[in-house]
Amino acid sequence: MRYAQSVSDLVGNTPLVRLARVTDGIRATVLAKVEYFNPGGSSKDRIAANIIDAAERSGDLRPGGTIVEPTSGNTGVGLALVALQRGYRCVFVVPDKFAGPKADVLRAYGAEVVVTDTNVPPDDPRSYYSVSDRLASEIPGAFKPNQFANQNGPRAHFETTGPEIWRDTDGRVTHFVAGIGTGGTISGAGRFLKETSGGEVVVVGADPEGSIYSGGDLHGYDVEGVGEDFLPDTFDSSVVDAYERISDTESFAMTRRLAREEGLLVGGSSGMAVVAALRVARDLPEDAVLVVLLPDHGRGYLAKVFDDEWMTARGYDTTDTTPSTPRSHA
Ligand code: PMP
Repeated sequence: MRYAQSVSDLVGNTPLVRLARVTDGIRATVLAKVEYFNPGGSSKDRIAANIIDAAERSGDLRPGGTIVEPTSGNTGVGLALVALQRGYRCVFVVPDKFAGPKADVLRAYGAEVVVTDTNVPPDDPRSYYSVSDRLASEIPGAFKPNQFANQNGPRAHFETTGPEIWRDTDGRVTHFVAGIGTGGTISGAGRFLKETSGGEVVVVGADPEGSIYSGGDLHGYDVEGVGEDFLPDTFDSSVVDAYERISDTESFAMTRRLAREEGLLVGGSSGMAVVAALRVARDLPEDAVLVVLLPDHGRGYLAKVFDDEWMTARGYDTTDTTPSTPRSHA
């Protein structure tokens, strides 16, 4: 019989699939690493087990303990998958910008969700960061993974994501493109690929317009899970060779094309990463092999990027991807 002992054993070993339709005019091979094949539906499943294992070893997390973390969703799902199975309580603090379907998923896994106001500065007592700090100090036996500082995050990608890409491309990967949220993915997988290739693999960070990583003005944006207004400890800038700065308009148009043309229903940060990948790939020769990481599933965004009314209300053009038969909202 061939079966997993638990769903957390199914994390990782996500497939590479060639992008064939959105790559018109590109000679290089562009491969998407589709992280929605993880059991919780995102790349964040990878860091959860690493973080919890380390906290159990260090004694920061003890039997009956509570995990408290600010998360826009994916990290919470990953943590919930592992934690609830092992008998830990989970309390997640979610900014109202991300509440809705993503928070509903966390509740469905049995986690408690506290919604906070997005429109207050980080040091305001009502902020996502302040509320999670307060809960972590008030709840007895609380452990705060702190995904923006926890080095077990990048380590998970160094130990799994990077080696999988190297293995599945037979070491032929020449470029790696990923978005940057905590920076765990690009820092961990990027460092593995750089070290293993003797510095040959080029690592490109995809960043929303308005985020700190690629420089320029800091301002709000709609794509979720990527970009920051501070530099987290989990981000190692020495790994990144270049940045591509991508507008929400481009990210969302590509996200919709990926569903319709490639059959890949993914989130907006995946569309953003693919826009960056295609910009890089445009100038590459035929023998180049570019791997772009698609962090999560599109199901959590049906009321946003895949909804024409939401898109139009936010000022995005939907004409090139709207079906000829409008759907009824009755
Ligand atoms: N996209 C989405 C949807 C995410 O949730 C995250 C994680 N915040 C990322 C991209 C970026 O991954 P990382 O934190 O490893 O940089």
